[in-house]
Amino acid sequence: MHNEKNWAGNYVYNAAETYIPDRVDQVQEFVATRSRVKALGTRHSFNAVADTTASHISLRKLNRVIELDRTRHRVTVEAGIRYGELCGYLHANGYALHNLASLPHISVAGACATATHGSGDRNRNLAAAVHSLELVQGDGTTVAFTKEDSERPIEAAAVGLGALGVVVRMTLDVAPSFEMSQEVYENLPLTMLKDDFDAIFSSAYSVSLFTDWKRPSFNQVWLKHKGRAPDDGRVDFYGATRAGAKLHPVPGSGAEHCTEQQGVPGPWHERMPHFRMEFTPSAGEELQSEYFVSRGDAYAALCALEEMKDRIAPLLYISEVRTIAADELWMSPCYRQDSVAIHFTWKPNWDAVRDVLPIVEEKLAPFQARPHWGKLFTMQPGRLQSLYAKLPEFRRLMARCDPEGKFRNDFLDTYVMGK
Ligand SMILES: Cc1cc2nc3c(=O)[nH]c(=O)nc-3n(C[C@H](O)[C@H](O)[C@H](O)COP(=O)(O)OP(=O)(O)OC[C@H]3O[C@@H](n4cnc5c(N)ncnc54)[C@H](O)[C@@H]3O)c2cc1C
Repeated sequence: MHNEKNWAGNYVYNAAETYIPDRVDQVQEFVATRSRVKALGTRHSFNAVADTTASHISLRKLNRVIELDRTRHRVTVEAGIRYGELCGYLHANGYALHNLASLPHISVAGACATATHGSGDRNRNLAAAVHSLELVQGDGTTVAFTKEDSERPIEAAAVGLGALGVVVRMTLDVAPSFEMSQEVYENLPLTMLKDDFDAIFSSAYSVSLFTDWKRPSFNQVWLKHKGRAPDDGRVDFYGATRAGAKLHPVPGSGAEHCTEQQGVPGPWHERMPHFRMEFTPSAGEELQSEYFVSRGDAYAALCALEEMKDRIAPLLYISEVRTIAADELWMSPCYRQDSVAIHFTWKPNWDAVRDVLPIVEEKLAPFQARPHWGKLFTMQPGRLQSLYAKLPEFRRLMARCDPEGKFRNDFLDTYVMGK
């Protein structure tokens, strides 16, 4: 019996075996001959989305770049590649990805499967960059979904929750490489968001606000600028003051693992994530939850959470607030809705966090908050399902790609199938 854990160590997988293929034909053969299979990425999800009681398949050896198409500005990769590996290659070849998550150690396939996102008014979640993908279906055959195919549109499969098959290849849209610089400001009053939400979040390519909920303010504002930071000598940002030194988002933690700040320009992939690729986190010792609300509701949602800050603060390392542009991806929490994600990095005390999450979810219920697919939540399945307009179509697609239910697990049965 295997007992591999997820990255944070809060979840022990129940897989009876784990297979690590070298080639796509081995993936096909394995899938065809097993009764239940679940693809495992880099294990950064906090819940049971990647679990199975049968066979895990890890694509960690299928992590090569297959082709860079300089005419169409696309890169094709094997699905086991991690963002950090891909970014170095792209940058060396003059290209960039539009956006990245906070950590570069996450696999491209796993991140897209759960609608992982970064921040930015015009930046959609990472799966929105997927132009096409190829997956191994239940019978071992491969099938492609692309932006050009109305029968198999990429919008249906890019956020696939591991439910459609094992993704083996992905083609991503890329942009010309660019420089970025990062500035950090301290102590932004929450009330500033009431009138200046748009101005604050459009003041840089990517903006993150961090709070520990101890005061009605954000401890830090991270501004990631395309190119150089504005050279206007400002020391004040909507009441926040420029940080005098490099900072970690969690108060009191050393900043050596964070990407460069204080306006020092550098390549896009060394500024967009908060943490450096060279820093290899061994164990997480944290829990994470995150909820998406519509951008127009964000200030009211934050004020609602403020009312329960005394319940949140003792359990928390830090909260982060980011914006994500609307997309067309069926299972994305940002489907057709410009969104704001309110994230919680909790201390590793699941009993206490499990008690507080229903209260967080109750506070956010008037705003139709949707939980991140890869993080911890306590929402009832019926409620979650009611928040996804495209769920009936996605279920039909699951039945088409996987008539025997080979890729199903308890998580999908509970939250997607609803039984
Ligand atoms: C420290 C940390 C920081 C994070 N930062 C962010 C952030 O900034 N923004 C954000 O949105 N999220 C963030 N996350 C969440 C994370 O991005 C998601 O949980 C993501 O799914 C993890 O990818 P993974 O490769 O580890 O996938 P896993 O956890 O291994 O799997 C997740 C899902 O992807 C499926 N999957 C994986 N590979 C394949 C494949 N080849 N074919 C089909 N399905 C596949 C699995 O079956 C499963 O359903 C963070 C998590 C951690 C631990």
